[in-house]
Amino acid sequence: MIKKLVLKGKHPGPHLLVTAGVHGDEYEPMEACRRLYLQLQDEMELLHGKITLVPVVNHPAFAMASRTGPDGLDLARICPGRADGTISERIAHAVSELITSADYYIDMHNGGHLYNIYPFSGYVLHPDHNILMVQQNMARSFGLPIVWGTDPTLPGRTLSVARDANIPAIYIEIGGAGIYNESMTKLAVQGCKNVLANLNLLKIIENKKPVRYHVEDHRRESGFLQRLLPSPADGFFMPEVAFEEPVKKGQPIGLVQDALGQVKTPILADQDGIVFILRNSPSVHKGDSLGAILPATQREQIQSIYE
Ligand SMILES: [Zn+2]
Repeated sequence: MIKKLVLKGKHPGPHLLVTAGVHGDEYEPMEACRRLYLQLQDEMELLHGKITLVPVVNHPAFAMASRTGPDGLDLARICPGRADGTISERIAHAVSELITSADYYIDMHNGGHLYNIYPFSGYVLHPDHNILMVQQNMARSFGLPIVWGTDPTLPGRTLSVARDANIPAIYIEIGGAGIYNESMTKLAVQGCKNVLANLNLLKIIENKKPVRYHVEDHRRESGFLQRLLPSPADGFFMPEVAFEEPVKKGQPIGLVQDALGQVKTPILADQDGIVFILRNSPSVHKGDSLGAILPATQREQIQSIYE
């Protein structure tokens, strides 16, 4: 049901699973998996353990160039799925079995057709301190500018399956906007190699840029991207801020206007921080997420946010 590429190193070691295409319209992570497979074939002498790469988990959704497959179910909301369910539920079941067979897990995403995301790696604030520490290290070693730890209680995700099985796991979000961006593919390939090195699966020196912002947000539903900055109305969204721009709570960051431009509703920042997700499709319905602000006000050190 799920096509995968498997590399077995010359030396014993743990099993890392990397997935892409849980959503069908997120393209660079798919190419990054294939690229990583080719590059690691030239580095087998340095490889310890086993790596499983899944370039396209949700093939029916990819074939439709869509986030979800023909049944409309979001694969990242229905894990661990059902063996006898709809097509998406069956894929969720298969990928969940794969996740629980691994020792470490990386799930790669981007903003799809509707969103553009400033590159970050994320993890859940796992109640087990040792797993949390491994996840922090994996996320930081990936080498993206933002690291974000969030509410560990959300159900239905691939990372929820890993959490329940006590398997250290991270996810990444890199770009999006429905286009293919080669620089994001390169970022993802190098990031995976950095994590492999960090976990001692690949005997190379990590090549990463320093983390600029690291936030651990303990508030309920932090990390639920679709619920952040909901649009107050149907209309045409125009952002007025750029990625990494610092904003203050209450500051206008864009507007939603009606078809004739006569009703303009300002969109206000919901907290202090930096802009890191923006909706790139101007067509919005009331309640759609327009983007997100990371509550980061300091650089480099871990900032913890509570209710
Ligand atoms: Zn996704």
